[in-house]
Amino acid sequence: MKFLLENNLSKLAKWLRFLGHDVRVLGGEVNLRELVRNQERIFITTSRRWERTLKRMGIEYLVVPRHDWELQLCMVIKHFGLSPRLLLDRCAYCGAKLVPVEKEKVKDRVPPRAYDTAYDFTLCPECGALFWKGTHYEGMLRKLEEVLKKC
Ligand SMILES: [Zn+2]
Repeated sequence: MKFLLENNLSKLAKWLRFLGHDVRVLGGEVNLRELVRNQERIFITTSRRWERTLKRMGIEYLVVPRHDWELQLCMVIKHFGLSPRLLLDRCAYCGAKLVPVEKEKVKDRVPPRAYDTAYDFTLCPECGALFWKGTHYEGMLRKLEEVLKKC
């Protein structure tokens, strides 16, 4: 799905990208111009301030609580019936689609201890960020399970 997030929801943005969604985060305050420009996206906000405008414009939206990103993620997953699977096919930072890369080619960018056990290396063609699966991946799976119990 395509989402537009308020700028204080960067942690939520990261996790929605882990689940494979196309997420854009507003650079500054919410404004009408950005809402018009992104009207095909579902808007996730922590305030009811724009509710009337959003309704009038026919933009789908969800209001989430302000500080708890785990609760936010739980609500978005359940409200939109998202599949709670870590696809990890998008860059957590910029949202671009990741491309697989050979482990040997990025050896100098991976801590030696992680290198031996890490697998599924991917590279972001937009910002150059490098990702891989390793011990942290198990932790993410556990975190996602916890998140789903939050709401
Ligand atoms: Zn990126």
